[in-house]
Amino acid sequence: MESTLTARDRVGVQDFVLLENYTSEAAFIENLRRRFGENLIYTYIGSVLVSVNPNKDLEIYSKAHMERYRGVSFYEISPHIYAVSDNTYRAMRTERRDQCILISGESGAGKTEASKKILQYYATTCPVTDHLSTLRDRLVQSNPVLEAFGNAKTLRNDNSSRFGKYMDVQFDFRGAPIGGHILNYLLEKSRVVHQNHGERNFHIFYQLLEGGEQNLLSKLGLERNAQKYQYLVKGCCPRVSSINDKNDWRTVRKALTVIGFHEDEDLLNIIASVLHLGNTQFGEGKNGENQITTEPQLKYLSKLLGVDGAALREALTHKKITAKGEEMISPLSFEQAVAARDALAKAVYGRAFTWLVVKINQSLAFKGSSSVIGLLDIYGFEVFQHNSFEQFCINYCNEKLHQLFIELTLKSEQEEYEAEGITWEPVKYFDNKIICDLVEGKHKGLISILDEECLRPGEPSDISFLEKLEDTLGGHAHFNKDLLYRNLKETATQFKNSLAKLIEILMSKEPSYVRCIKPNDAKQSGRFDEALVRHQVKYLGLMENLRVRRAGFAYRRHYETFLQRYKSLCPGTWPNWQGRLADGVATLVQHLGYKPEEYKLGKTKIFIRFPKTLFSTEDSLEA
Ligand code: ATP
Ligand code: MG
Repeated sequence: MESTLTARDRVGVQDFVLLENYTSEAAFIENLRRRFGENLIYTYIGSVLVSVNPNKDLEIYSKAHMERYRGVSFYEISPHIYAVSDNTYRAMRTERRDQCILISGESGAGKTEASKKILQYYATTCPVTDHLSTLRDRLVQSNPVLEAFGNAKTLRNDNSSRFGKYMDVQFDFRGAPIGGHILNYLLEKSRVVHQNHGERNFHIFYQLLEGGEQNLLSKLGLERNAQKYQYLVKGCCPRVSSINDKNDWRTVRKALTVIGFHEDEDLLNIIASVLHLGNTQFGEGKNGENQITTEPQLKYLSKLLGVDGAALREALTHKKITAKGEEMISPLSFEQAVAARDALAKAVYGRAFTWLVVKINQSLAFKGSSSVIGLLDIYGFEVFQHNSFEQFCINYCNEKLHQLFIELTLKSEQEEYEAEGITWEPVKYFDNKIICDLVEGKHKGLISILDEECLRPGEPSDISFLEKLEDTLGGHAHFNKDLLYRNLKETATQFKNSLAKLIEILMSKEPSYVRCIKPNDAKQSGRFDEALVRHQVKYLGLMENLRVRRAGFAYRRHYETFLQRYKSLCPGTWPNWQGRLADGVATLVQHLGYKPEEYKLGKTKIFIRFPKTLFSTEDSLEA
């Protein structure tokens, strides 16, 4: 077999299962560090890909690289995101089973980049006919659009996804991409009205202001200056050196056209109306009442949202209360009016985002039989001084996925041993089910307590604002009363249910994993902060993962592959073994000095408990 690895590719071990000192976290991190130092950002734990963000462009994603990974087995070539893409694709084709790739890691670790590389791999290497090329382009172009509306500059990542994303790519019987579907989770809507220092609002606002044509801005009543907008100045961060809003605007507009938004007016009206809402101010009127003091904003708002100005004014400054069965209208205090305004801005933006996903899904829709590869790019754990409800949901989601990860890893190990007719010894592992139960338990779970809290009589005042708002605006297309009201009361529960649905989808598919690691907090290239990496290795459960892989037989190969590679090491098998493959392999491993208890022969594969380092560089023999 021809060697595809160079000496540089062999720095450290390219599969952690081959680490001699496999229980040592220090050895694990040292292996990552050495490889990272050589720009070898990918390493396996069995079939799990560990990726360390290089924070610089590496010349490893060209079309030629893609070609190199086509149809090649995992172990014959250096670890790469393309190897995972290709193996998953081949498994879907040959085993006719739906697949999914779960990408995890903390903010800035490279999850979204990984998912884009996978998608590009399919877009480039899969067969495609003329009439499918449109679909392929739409799949790829959905990314810049969703990123414009759902990503923002944070302290951790200049292009941080502020929503969770699961995307199905559908393939036809020839293996050509024919459709897709996106599920989105929990957009961080609070960002619309507030950003921490050094962070920005969603990219689209700045893109529109920087790149929008003058006549478009005039129509929307906007000025080309982000500093003028209250919702854009909170983080004191209008410009980011790594971001070119003007160019991105062009990319997004083009992408919108490809997806089929010939009429993106509504979308831009909503973006503009959010900015006008942010600039809507309140002050004291003649009789001491609280009133809107910014008439131009009100005028634009009513035009852009298509609602009656007087009704909007009333909704933003008054609330409806029910006392002794009677409904009364009472004025809002200054603080209450500000809160109602912000709630409206968040709701409007959230609805626009959901609508965008619906439109993208319409443009990707395919009905008919297909095989599926799902890509999950879920937000990583986030720990702040004050964790908000949104962070709680994010962390809960990660606990849940981690549980799934462990369950499925163990399950697939077990299945493989069974299929090969080898006795399996169960492994002890930390089961975070306890944590998940704590969160989701029926009566005592945190989520049900939150639910109850929200539904108590004498509801929090925000709800009465929203009731009032929805009364006035409920009939308007952009304003779904149902959602607004339910949002507050049920977001916890909703999230739990959609997560349960997601887990169900994932469980029905064959999973592959990409575990992303961020080497430093400064977004710098070439810097490997050991403490930070150690922390991620811990909570991603990588040592545990390795232990599961090593607990049984760390090394396994199909007889044919194994014999082909190592036959030259044994006079009995060289140059060609004539008998049964299993017998040839047995002859070979005995010659290499393995004792009977150190290996097992399955139906199609050899399993070795503690492989010699010789196997760590797979094809060093041919080099
Ligand atoms: P978040 O959870 O905040 O969305 P993320 O894990 O999705 O974070 P990415 O947006 O994928 O993180 O990556 C952050 C940045 O790191 C990218 O914008 C890019 O600059 C850099 N980066 C990530 N992966 C790679 C890669 N393979 N090659 C080069 N640069 C990368
Ligand atoms: Mg991301």
